[in-house]
Amino acid sequence: MYNVWENALAEIEQKISPANFSTWFQDTSLLSTDNGNIIIGVKNSFYIKQLRSKFNDIIKDALIKNGINVNTIDYEVNTKTKSKVRPREVIPEDSIKNHIKPIKKSFETKTTSNGLNNKYTLDNFVIGSNNDLAVSAAKSIIDAPGTRYNPFFLYGGPGLGKTHLVQAIGNELLRKNPDYKILYTPISHFYSDFIDAIQSGKGKEFNRKFEKLDCLIIDDFQFIVGKEKSQEEFFNIFNDLYQLNKQIIVTSDRLPSQIKSVDERLASRLTWAGAFDLQLPKFEDKCAILRAKAELMGADIEQEAIEYIAENVNTNIRDLEGEFSTILLMSEVRGLTPWELIQNGSTSIIKSNKLRPVSSKQIIEKVAKYYNLSTKEMCGKSRVSNIKTARQIAMFILSKELSMSTTKIASEVGVKDHTTVMHGIKKIESDLKLNFTLRDQIEEIKEQIYG
Ligand code: ADP
Ligand code: MG
Repeated sequence: MYNVWENALAEIEQKISPANFSTWFQDTSLLSTDNGNIIIGVKNSFYIKQLRSKFNDIIKDALIKNGINVNTIDYEVNTKTKSKVRPREVIPEDSIKNHIKPIKKSFETKTTSNGLNNKYTLDNFVIGSNNDLAVSAAKSIIDAPGTRYNPFFLYGGPGLGKTHLVQAIGNELLRKNPDYKILYTPISHFYSDFIDAIQSGKGKEFNRKFEKLDCLIIDDFQFIVGKEKSQEEFFNIFNDLYQLNKQIIVTSDRLPSQIKSVDERLASRLTWAGAFDLQLPKFEDKCAILRAKAELMGADIEQEAIEYIAENVNTNIRDLEGEFSTILLMSEVRGLTPWELIQNGSTSIIKSNKLRPVSSKQIIEKVAKYYNLSTKEMCGKSRVSNIKTARQIAMFILSKELSMSTTKIASEVGVKDHTTVMHGIKKIESDLKLNFTLRDQIEEIKEQIYG
């Protein structure tokens, strides 16, 4: 059962955002498949509603693809089953799986009851132009928690190192002072623990647990959306800790003001001491991260291979690591060096990047459809803002995915000259830095293009 669910999870992970995947699927297990009546184990009741309403169809598809007959899907709270987190890599052939020695993690990592995992340290967090300001704030917090950067609000897209950096702060604080009371919790766990406490009449105890803390780390705050009660509770806890000069650390994939239905007072308080962002790494940053990973794993990898991976993975650091590990594993199994393997053309990176057969026409159609426009409308002369933006997004995707010249793009999307295209692409690039909704939309469009 374990393997089936692992394979299904691999399938699901391809279809949803990394943040959603880690939040909703980390502690799941497959309990039964009898007569097509599927029972999935979850950590607590809060997950049931979310999984059922948001992911039922995706789960069903993933199980069917793995040869499981599905009539009904039910969810059950199952505290005994611990998380079955698989490695991210999807290795193409079964035979390879049998050969693989776990070279990925040569050291033990462990998560303790305070939620901290000792694999995340500042030493193994590579500093680059994408994160240097956030790291210097983090260091100042480690030196003097609860002072200048309180609360510390850290935001950025998925896979850019938010969890790593805030966990590292927690671990360093604890190393300096083993008596320091820290709690790291994703907001979804905070919420479900809160509901459990209320339901079992232990609201006061829940509160007391937080009162005693020296440092509270809340991850993925964007998932608070619409949960008024827990928001109120969080706000109270926040105020209590803040008044006692206890360090509060919050991460999110966007600014509080961009999260719908977050109370305005809470939103402004979260960024009282500023907001720090993690950006997409530049080429040099990516190379530095890969070199550090190689060193940590004691892996031999040519500079050409590092540069090739850095150049071709443009999504985030999690994907960068994923490709890197896959290439290392495959090179070991095939008996080739990483660079030989890449030149051989058999790595997933090549299949997943740019060279996948997709035409400009398909891209244009998918973008138009996504924004409920006809291609004629989108590629016409209209200057209505949503149509113009859709057109610019099409230009952006054509340029990034097909490496098309701006002149060619101009003729594809029906604009007069290539400077308009250049302007359009620049506009989207600059919007993407702050507009996370746009980021999500472009990711979704890409999923639809390649899906
Ligand atoms: P997020 O929480 O923003 O989604 P994570 O903190 O989970 O991202 O980071 C994704 C992966 O990338 C993790 O394995 C993390 O260790 C790694 N990572 C991110 N940034 C860095 C960095 N600057 N140096 C080394 N590894 C990094
Ligand atoms: Mg995270």
